[in-house]
Amino acid sequence: MSLPLCDERPGPNLRQERGQREVFCGLTGIVWLHRKIQDAFFLVVGSRTCAHLIQSAAGVMIFAEPRFATAIIEERDLAGLADIDTELDRVVSRLIERRPDIKMLFLVGSCPSEVIKLDLSRAAQRLSQTLMPQVRVLSYSGSGIETTFTQGEDACLAALVAQCPQMPEQAAPSLLVVGALADAVEDQFRRYFEQMGLTRVDFLPARHAADMPAIGPKTRFLLAQPFLSDTARALEERGAIHIPALFPLGVEGTEAWLRAAAKVFDVGEQVFQDTIASAIARAQASLHRAREKLAGRSLFFFPDSQLEVPIARFLSRELGMELTEIGVPYLHRRHLAAELDLLPDHVQIVEGQDVELQLDRCRAIKPDLTVCGLGLANPLEAEGFTTKWSIELVFTPVQGFEQAADLAELFTRPLMRRELLEV
Ligand code: SF4
Repeated sequence: MSLPLCDERPGPNLRQERGQREVFCGLTGIVWLHRKIQDAFFLVVGSRTCAHLIQSAAGVMIFAEPRFATAIIEERDLAGLADIDTELDRVVSRLIERRPDIKMLFLVGSCPSEVIKLDLSRAAQRLSQTLMPQVRVLSYSGSGIETTFTQGEDACLAALVAQCPQMPEQAAPSLLVVGALADAVEDQFRRYFEQMGLTRVDFLPARHAADMPAIGPKTRFLLAQPFLSDTARALEERGAIHIPALFPLGVEGTEAWLRAAAKVFDVGEQVFQDTIASAIARAQASLHRAREKLAGRSLFFFPDSQLEVPIARFLSRELGMELTEIGVPYLHRRHLAAELDLLPDHVQIVEGQDVELQLDRCRAIKPDLTVCGLGLANPLEAEGFTTKWSIELVFTPVQGFEQAADLAELFTRPLMRRELLEV
Protein backbone atom coordinates (compact mmCIF):
# COMPACT_ATOMS: atom_id res chain seq x y z
CA MET A 1 0.00 0.00 0.00
CA SER A 2 1.05 3.60 -0.27
CA LEU A 3 3.46 5.23 2.11
CA PRO A 4 3.50 8.90 3.11
CA LEU A 5 5.23 11.09 0.58
CA CYS A 6 7.71 13.06 2.62
CA ASP A 7 10.44 13.58 0.11
CA GLU A 8 13.59 15.02 1.66
CA ARG A 9 16.14 14.04 -0.96
CA PRO A 10 16.67 15.39 -4.46
CA GLY A 11 14.85 13.45 -7.15
CA PRO A 12 11.51 13.48 -8.85
CA ASN A 13 8.69 15.55 -7.36
CA LEU A 14 6.14 13.40 -5.60
CA ARG A 15 2.63 14.31 -4.64
CA GLN A 16 -0.73 12.71 -4.04
CA GLU A 17 -4.04 13.40 -5.72
CA ARG A 18 -7.52 12.17 -4.87
CA GLY A 19 -10.61 12.29 -7.05
CA GLN A 20 -12.40 10.36 -9.74
CA ARG A 21 -10.36 7.43 -11.03
CA GLU A 22 -10.39 5.57 -14.35
CA VAL A 23 -9.06 2.07 -13.72
CA PHE A 24 -10.05 -1.56 -14.21
CA CYS A 25 -10.70 -3.82 -11.24
CA GLY A 26 -8.62 -6.72 -9.91
CA LEU A 27 -10.74 -9.36 -11.66
CA THR A 28 -8.63 -8.56 -14.75
CA GLY A 29 -5.72 -10.50 -13.21
CA ILE A 30 -7.61 -13.76 -13.79
CA VAL A 31 -6.84 -13.33 -17.49
CA TRP A 32 -3.14 -14.02 -16.99
CA LEU A 33 -3.27 -15.97 -13.71
CA HIS A 34 -5.47 -18.76 -15.10
CA ARG A 35 -2.91 -19.32 -17.85
CA LYS A 36 -0.06 -19.36 -15.35
CA ILE A 37 -1.40 -21.83 -12.76
CA GLN A 38 -2.42 -24.58 -15.12
CA ASP A 39 -4.61 -26.65 -12.79
CA ALA A 40 -6.34 -23.77 -11.00
CA PHE A 41 -9.88 -22.52 -11.49
CA PHE A 42 -11.07 -18.99 -10.70
CA LEU A 43 -14.69 -18.71 -9.62
CA VAL A 44 -15.74 -15.08 -9.41
CA VAL A 45 -18.61 -14.52 -7.00
CA GLY A 46 -20.14 -11.46 -8.57
CA SER A 47 -22.65 -9.86 -10.87
CA ARG A 48 -23.37 -10.09 -14.59
CA THR A 49 -21.11 -7.06 -15.04
CA CYS A 50 -18.21 -9.04 -13.53
CA ALA A 51 -18.99 -11.96 -15.88
CA HIS A 52 -18.98 -9.63 -18.89
CA LEU A 53 -15.69 -8.04 -17.85
CA ILE A 54 -13.92 -11.38 -17.53
CA GLN A 55 -15.35 -12.82 -20.71
CA SER A 56 -14.56 -9.80 -22.83
CA ALA A 57 -11.07 -9.43 -21.37
CA ALA A 58 -10.14 -13.12 -21.64
CA GLY A 59 -12.17 -14.08 -24.69
CA VAL A 60 -14.64 -16.92 -24.66
CA MET A 61 -12.98 -20.32 -24.83
CA ILE A 62 -15.12 -22.28 -27.23
CA PHE A 63 -13.05 -25.41 -27.70
CA ALA A 64 -11.05 -25.57 -24.47
CA GLU A 65 -12.61 -26.13 -21.05
CA PRO A 66 -12.51 -22.68 -19.42
CA ARG A 67 -10.75 -22.27 -16.09
CA PHE A 68 -12.70 -19.28 -14.88
CA ALA A 69 -16.38 -18.58 -14.42
CA THR A 70 -18.74 -16.32 -12.52
CA ALA A 71 -21.23 -17.47 -9.90
CA ILE A 72 -23.83 -14.74 -10.38
CA ILE A 73 -25.25 -13.15 -7.27
CA GLU A 74 -28.94 -12.81 -8.10
CA GLU A 75 -31.47 -10.35 -6.69
CA ARG A 76 -32.79 -13.06 -4.35
CA ASP A 77 -29.30 -13.35 -2.86
CA LEU A 78 -28.96 -9.60 -2.51
CA ALA A 79 -32.34 -9.41 -0.80
CA GLY A 80 -31.26 -12.11 1.64
CA LEU A 81 -33.96 -14.49 0.37
CA ALA A 82 -31.53 -17.27 -0.51
CA ASP A 83 -28.91 -18.97 1.63
CA ILE A 84 -25.89 -17.88 -0.35
CA ASP A 85 -23.49 -20.29 1.39
CA THR A 86 -25.65 -23.25 0.36
CA GLU A 87 -25.87 -21.91 -3.19
CA LEU A 88 -22.10 -21.52 -3.35
CA ASP A 89 -21.49 -25.05 -1.99
CA ARG A 90 -23.85 -26.41 -4.63
CA VAL A 91 -22.11 -24.55 -7.47
CA VAL A 92 -18.65 -25.63 -6.28
CA SER A 93 -19.60 -29.32 -5.83
CA ARG A 94 -21.06 -29.43 -9.32
CA LEU A 95 -17.95 -27.80 -10.74
CA ILE A 96 -15.53 -30.19 -9.02
CA GLU A 97 -17.58 -33.24 -10.03
CA ARG A 98 -17.45 -32.16 -13.66
CA ARG A 99 -13.81 -31.07 -13.61
CA PRO A 100 -11.50 -33.54 -11.86
CA ASP A 101 -8.53 -31.68 -13.43
CA ILE A 102 -9.01 -28.77 -11.00
CA LYS A 103 -6.53 -28.96 -8.12
CA MET A 104 -6.82 -25.42 -6.78
CA LEU A 105 -9.97 -23.33 -6.66
CA PHE A 106 -9.94 -19.59 -6.05
CA LEU A 107 -13.16 -17.97 -4.88
CA VAL A 108 -12.72 -14.43 -6.14
CA GLY A 109 -14.61 -11.64 -4.40
CA SER A 110 -16.08 -8.71 -6.32
CA CYS A 111 -17.77 -5.38 -5.55
CA PRO A 112 -21.22 -7.04 -5.11
CA SER A 113 -19.86 -9.79 -2.83
CA GLU A 114 -18.07 -7.17 -0.73
CA VAL A 115 -21.11 -4.92 -0.56
CA ILE A 116 -23.24 -7.75 0.85
CA LYS A 117 -20.31 -8.72 3.12
CA LEU A 118 -20.08 -12.26 1.85
CA ASP A 119 -17.30 -13.97 3.81
CA LEU A 120 -15.47 -15.86 1.09
CA SER A 121 -12.49 -16.75 3.29
CA ARG A 122 -14.84 -18.67 5.61
CA ALA A 123 -16.48 -20.31 2.58
CA ALA A 124 -13.03 -21.30 1.26
CA GLN A 125 -12.10 -22.88 4.60
CA ARG A 126 -15.38 -24.77 4.74
CA LEU A 127 -15.07 -26.04 1.16
CA SER A 128 -11.40 -26.94 1.61
CA GLN A 129 -12.33 -29.20 4.53
CA THR A 130 -14.71 -31.09 2.26
CA LEU A 131 -12.62 -31.14 -0.90
CA MET A 132 -9.05 -31.66 0.38
CA PRO A 133 -6.80 -33.39 -0.59
CA GLN A 134 -8.21 -33.38 -4.12
CA VAL A 135 -8.77 -29.61 -4.27
CA ARG A 136 -7.46 -26.74 -2.16
CA VAL A 137 -9.86 -23.80 -1.99
CA LEU A 138 -8.55 -20.25 -1.45
CA SER A 139 -10.15 -16.85 -1.64
CA TYR A 140 -9.14 -13.30 -2.48
CA SER A 141 -10.76 -10.07 -3.54
CA GLY A 142 -10.71 -8.79 -7.11
CA SER A 143 -13.15 -6.00 -6.39
CA GLY A 144 -12.78 -2.58 -7.95
CA ILE A 145 -13.52 -0.75 -4.71
CA GLU A 146 -10.40 1.37 -4.11
CA THR A 147 -8.10 -0.89 -6.14
CA THR A 148 -6.48 -1.05 -9.53
CA PHE A 149 -6.32 -3.98 -11.90
CA THR A 150 -2.91 -5.41 -11.01
CA GLN A 151 -3.90 -5.67 -7.35
CA GLY A 152 -5.88 -8.77 -8.25
CA GLU A 153 -2.60 -10.60 -8.78
CA ASP A 154 -1.23 -9.18 -5.54
CA ALA A 155 -4.26 -10.39 -3.59
CA CYS A 156 -4.14 -13.81 -5.27
CA LEU A 157 -0.44 -14.34 -4.54
CA ALA A 158 -0.81 -13.11 -0.95
CA ALA A 159 -3.52 -15.77 -0.47
CA LEU A 160 -1.19 -18.36 -2.00
CA VAL A 161 1.68 -17.42 0.34
CA ALA A 162 -0.53 -18.26 3.31
CA GLN A 163 -0.98 -21.78 1.88
CA CYS A 164 2.64 -22.48 0.86
CA PRO A 165 4.38 -25.18 2.94
CA GLN A 166 6.87 -24.23 5.66
CA MET A 167 10.52 -24.54 4.71
CA PRO A 168 12.44 -26.88 7.06
CA GLU A 169 14.79 -25.05 9.44
CA GLN A 170 17.86 -26.93 8.21
CA ALA A 171 17.15 -26.07 4.55
CA ALA A 172 19.78 -24.16 2.59
CA PRO A 173 18.90 -20.57 1.59
CA SER A 174 16.84 -20.42 -1.58
CA LEU A 175 15.78 -17.78 -4.06
CA LEU A 176 12.12 -17.09 -4.72
CA VAL A 177 11.06 -15.03 -7.74
CA VAL A 178 7.66 -13.49 -7.02
CA GLY A 179 5.17 -12.41 -9.68
CA ALA A 180 3.43 -14.12 -12.59
CA LEU A 181 5.79 -14.22 -15.56
CA ALA A 182 5.17 -15.70 -19.00
CA ASP A 183 6.52 -19.26 -19.05
CA ALA A 184 9.15 -18.37 -21.69
CA VAL A 185 10.44 -15.51 -19.50
CA GLU A 186 10.48 -17.72 -16.41
CA ASP A 187 12.51 -20.35 -18.34
CA GLN A 188 15.03 -17.71 -19.43
CA PHE A 189 15.52 -16.47 -15.87
CA ARG A 190 15.82 -20.04 -14.60
CA ARG A 191 18.62 -20.65 -17.12
CA TYR A 192 20.51 -17.54 -15.99
CA PHE A 193 20.26 -18.55 -12.34
CA GLU A 194 21.42 -22.08 -13.18
CA GLN A 195 24.42 -20.71 -15.08
CA MET A 196 25.28 -18.61 -12.03
CA GLY A 197 25.24 -21.80 -9.96
CA LEU A 198 21.99 -21.11 -8.08
CA THR A 199 20.30 -24.47 -7.75
CA ARG A 200 17.51 -23.67 -5.30
CA VAL A 201 15.29 -21.28 -7.25
CA ASP A 202 11.48 -21.24 -7.11
CA PHE A 203 8.85 -19.10 -8.78
CA LEU A 204 5.61 -17.90 -7.24
CA PRO A 205 3.09 -18.73 -8.55
CA ALA A 206 4.27 -22.18 -9.63
CA ARG A 207 2.71 -23.66 -12.75
CA HIS A 208 0.90 -26.37 -10.79
CA ALA A 209 -0.93 -26.32 -7.47
CA ALA A 210 1.19 -29.15 -6.03
CA ASP A 211 4.46 -27.30 -6.77
CA MET A 212 3.96 -24.15 -4.71
CA PRO A 213 7.30 -23.36 -3.01
CA ALA A 214 8.15 -23.86 0.66
CA ILE A 215 8.72 -20.55 2.47
CA GLY A 216 10.62 -19.65 5.61
CA PRO A 217 13.42 -17.51 7.07
CA LYS A 218 15.90 -18.95 4.55
CA THR A 219 13.85 -17.61 1.64
CA ARG A 220 15.33 -14.61 -0.16
CA PHE A 221 12.81 -13.15 -2.57
CA LEU A 222 13.06 -10.95 -5.66
CA LEU A 223 9.95 -9.17 -6.87
CA ALA A 224 9.41 -9.53 -10.60
CA GLN A 225 6.52 -7.03 -10.53
CA PRO A 226 6.24 -3.70 -8.71
CA PHE A 227 2.63 -4.18 -7.61
CA LEU A 228 3.04 -6.97 -5.07
CA SER A 229 3.10 -5.11 -1.77
CA ASP A 230 0.60 -7.38 0.07
CA THR A 231 2.38 -10.49 -1.21
CA ALA A 232 5.74 -9.12 -0.06
CA ARG A 233 4.26 -8.36 3.37
CA ALA A 234 2.84 -11.90 3.63
CA LEU A 235 6.24 -13.35 2.72
CA GLU A 236 8.01 -11.15 5.27
CA GLU A 237 5.54 -12.24 7.93
CA ARG A 238 6.73 -15.79 7.24
CA GLY A 239 10.35 -14.72 7.72
CA ALA A 240 11.34 -14.39 4.05
CA ILE A 241 13.73 -11.56 3.22
CA HIS A 242 13.23 -9.16 0.31
CA ILE A 243 16.15 -8.49 -2.04
CA PRO A 244 15.88 -4.81 -3.05
CA ALA A 245 16.50 -4.30 -6.77
CA LEU A 246 15.41 -2.53 -9.91
CA PHE A 247 12.65 -4.41 -11.75
CA PRO A 248 13.68 -6.63 -14.68
CA LEU A 249 12.47 -4.27 -17.40
CA GLY A 250 14.95 -3.23 -20.07
CA VAL A 251 18.63 -4.11 -20.14
CA GLU A 252 19.63 -1.98 -17.16
CA GLY A 253 16.76 -3.21 -14.99
CA THR A 254 17.29 -6.88 -15.85
CA GLU A 255 21.03 -6.69 -15.18
CA ALA A 256 20.51 -4.95 -11.83
CA TRP A 257 17.77 -7.41 -10.84
CA LEU A 258 19.94 -10.45 -11.62
CA ARG A 259 22.95 -8.81 -9.98
CA ALA A 260 21.02 -8.22 -6.75
CA ALA A 261 20.34 -11.97 -6.50
CA ALA A 262 23.92 -12.83 -7.51
CA LYS A 263 25.24 -10.62 -4.70
CA VAL A 264 23.05 -12.23 -2.04
CA PHE A 265 24.12 -15.72 -3.16
CA ASP A 266 27.84 -14.80 -3.48
CA VAL A 267 28.13 -15.37 -7.22
CA GLY A 268 31.57 -14.22 -8.44
CA GLU A 269 31.72 -11.24 -10.82
CA GLN A 270 33.32 -13.31 -13.59
CA VAL A 271 30.62 -15.99 -13.43
CA PHE A 272 27.97 -13.26 -13.43
CA GLN A 273 29.51 -11.56 -16.47
CA ASP A 274 29.92 -14.86 -18.33
CA THR A 275 26.23 -15.56 -17.73
CA ILE A 276 24.82 -12.29 -18.99
CA ALA A 277 27.38 -10.63 -21.30
CA SER A 278 26.15 -12.00 -24.63
CA ALA A 279 22.48 -11.50 -23.72
CA ILE A 280 23.22 -7.86 -22.80
CA ALA A 281 25.05 -7.26 -26.07
CA ARG A 282 22.17 -8.74 -28.07
CA ALA A 283 19.55 -6.79 -26.11
CA GLN A 284 21.39 -3.48 -26.48
CA ALA A 285 21.72 -3.99 -30.22
CA SER A 286 18.04 -4.87 -30.47
CA LEU A 287 17.06 -1.51 -28.94
CA HIS A 288 18.83 0.54 -31.59
CA ARG A 289 15.87 0.97 -33.95
CA ALA A 290 13.45 1.86 -31.16
CA ARG A 291 15.89 4.44 -29.78
CA GLU A 292 15.99 6.21 -33.13
CA LYS A 293 12.22 6.41 -33.10
CA LEU A 294 11.67 7.34 -29.44
CA ALA A 295 14.61 9.56 -28.42
CA GLY A 296 13.46 13.08 -27.60
CA ARG A 297 9.75 12.21 -27.71
CA SER A 298 7.71 13.28 -24.67
CA LEU A 299 5.71 10.84 -22.57
CA PHE A 300 2.85 11.19 -20.08
CA PHE A 301 1.53 8.37 -17.87
CA PHE A 302 -1.99 8.12 -16.49
CA PRO A 303 -2.06 5.84 -13.42
CA ASP A 304 -3.18 2.30 -14.21
CA SER A 305 -0.85 -0.71 -14.17
CA GLN A 306 1.52 0.25 -11.32
CA LEU A 307 4.33 -0.55 -13.78
CA GLU A 308 4.63 3.14 -14.62
CA VAL A 309 7.78 3.98 -12.65
CA PRO A 310 10.08 1.17 -13.91
CA ILE A 311 8.76 1.53 -17.46
CA ALA A 312 9.41 5.29 -17.31
CA ARG A 313 12.94 4.62 -16.08
CA PHE A 314 13.54 2.27 -19.04
CA LEU A 315 12.07 4.63 -21.63
CA SER A 316 13.99 7.61 -20.32
CA ARG A 317 17.41 6.06 -19.64
CA GLU A 318 17.67 3.46 -22.40
CA LEU A 319 15.58 5.04 -25.16
CA GLY A 320 16.01 8.75 -24.48
CA MET A 321 12.32 9.65 -24.06
CA GLU A 322 11.42 12.87 -22.22
CA LEU A 323 9.30 12.16 -19.16
CA THR A 324 6.68 14.70 -18.17
CA GLU A 325 4.19 13.37 -15.60
CA ILE A 326 4.12 9.82 -14.22
CA GLY A 327 0.78 8.93 -12.66
CA VAL A 328 0.77 5.84 -10.42
CA PRO A 329 -2.25 4.36 -8.61
CA TYR A 330 -0.16 3.52 -5.51
CA LEU A 331 3.49 4.13 -4.81
CA HIS A 332 5.42 1.67 -2.66
CA ARG A 333 8.39 3.83 -1.72
CA ARG A 334 10.54 0.95 -0.40
CA HIS A 335 10.04 -1.40 -3.35
CA LEU A 336 10.49 1.44 -5.83
CA ALA A 337 13.34 3.24 -4.07
CA ALA A 338 16.05 2.20 -6.55
CA GLU A 339 13.76 3.06 -9.47
CA LEU A 340 12.88 6.52 -8.12
CA ASP A 341 16.58 7.30 -7.66
CA LEU A 342 17.13 6.89 -11.40
CA LEU A 343 14.38 9.23 -12.59
CA PRO A 344 15.27 12.79 -13.64
CA ASP A 345 14.70 15.52 -11.03
CA HIS A 346 12.14 17.49 -13.02
CA VAL A 347 9.68 14.60 -13.40
CA GLN A 348 6.35 14.99 -11.64
CA ILE A 349 5.10 11.78 -9.99
CA VAL A 350 1.45 11.84 -8.96
CA GLU A 351 0.13 9.07 -6.73
CA GLY A 352 -3.62 8.48 -7.00
CA GLN A 353 -5.86 10.23 -9.49
CA ASP A 354 -8.20 13.09 -10.13
CA VAL A 355 -8.85 12.29 -13.74
CA GLU A 356 -10.25 15.67 -14.78
CA LEU A 357 -7.25 17.56 -13.40
CA GLN A 358 -4.91 15.07 -14.96
CA LEU A 359 -6.59 15.37 -18.35
CA ASP A 360 -6.18 19.16 -18.12
CA ARG A 361 -2.46 18.77 -17.41
CA CYS A 362 -2.06 16.26 -20.24
CA ARG A 363 -3.79 18.64 -22.68
CA ALA A 364 -1.52 21.48 -21.54
CA ILE A 365 1.64 19.39 -21.93
CA LYS A 366 0.60 17.86 -25.29
CA PRO A 367 2.90 14.82 -24.98
CA ASP A 368 3.99 12.88 -28.06
CA LEU A 369 2.78 9.68 -26.38
CA THR A 370 0.27 9.10 -23.58
CA VAL A 371 0.12 5.81 -21.67
CA CYS A 372 -3.35 5.23 -20.22
CA GLY A 373 -6.16 2.78 -19.55
CA LEU A 374 -8.59 1.63 -22.22
CA GLY A 375 -11.33 4.00 -21.04
CA LEU A 376 -9.23 7.10 -21.71
CA ALA A 377 -7.45 5.96 -24.86
CA ASN A 378 -10.25 6.44 -27.40
CA PRO A 379 -11.35 9.91 -26.23
CA LEU A 380 -7.72 11.04 -26.16
CA GLU A 381 -7.07 9.61 -29.64
CA ALA A 382 -10.15 11.51 -30.85
CA GLU A 383 -8.54 14.69 -29.51
CA GLY A 384 -5.41 13.97 -31.54
CA PHE A 385 -3.27 12.36 -28.82
CA THR A 386 -1.24 9.23 -29.54
CA THR A 387 -1.91 6.63 -26.85
CA LYS A 388 -0.64 3.32 -25.59
CA TRP A 389 -2.93 1.00 -23.59
CA SER A 390 -1.19 0.30 -20.30
CA ILE A 391 -2.93 -3.08 -19.95
CA GLU A 392 -0.72 -4.39 -22.78
CA LEU A 393 2.27 -4.00 -20.48
CA VAL A 394 0.84 -6.80 -18.37
CA PHE A 395 -0.51 -8.99 -21.17
CA THR A 396 2.77 -8.97 -23.13
CA PRO A 397 5.94 -10.77 -21.96
CA VAL A 398 8.22 -7.77 -21.34
CA GLN A 399 10.66 -8.78 -18.59
CA GLY A 400 14.25 -9.81 -19.26
CA PHE A 401 16.96 -9.12 -21.83
CA GLU A 402 15.30 -11.06 -24.63
CA GLN A 403 12.08 -9.06 -24.29
CA ALA A 404 13.64 -5.56 -24.05
CA ALA A 405 13.06 -4.84 -27.75
CA ASP A 406 9.46 -6.11 -27.54
CA LEU A 407 8.87 -3.75 -24.63
CA ALA A 408 10.32 -0.83 -26.61
CA GLU A 409 8.21 -1.77 -29.62
CA LEU A 410 5.03 -1.40 -27.60
CA PHE A 411 5.85 2.32 -27.53
CA THR A 412 7.14 2.76 -31.09
CA ARG A 413 4.06 1.13 -32.63
CA PRO A 414 1.48 3.80 -31.73
CA LEU A 415 3.81 6.56 -32.95
CA MET A 416 4.33 4.77 -36.26
CA ARG A 417 0.60 4.15 -36.61
CA ARG A 418 -0.06 7.85 -36.06
CA GLU A 419 2.55 8.80 -38.67
CA LEU A 420 0.91 6.48 -41.21
CA LEU A 421 -2.50 7.99 -40.50
CA GLU A 422 -1.14 11.48 -40.99
CA VAL A 423 0.48 10.77 -44.36
S1 SF4 B 1 -15.65 -6.47 -9.43
FE1 SF4 B 1 -16.66 -4.49 -9.35
S2 SF4 B 1 -15.57 -3.20 -10.83
FE2 SF4 B 1 -15.05 -5.35 -11.28
S3 SF4 B 1 -16.52 -5.96 -12.87
FE3 SF4 B 1 -17.37 -6.60 -10.87
S4 SF4 B 1 -18.68 -4.86 -10.28
FE4 SF4 B 1 -17.32 -4.10 -11.90
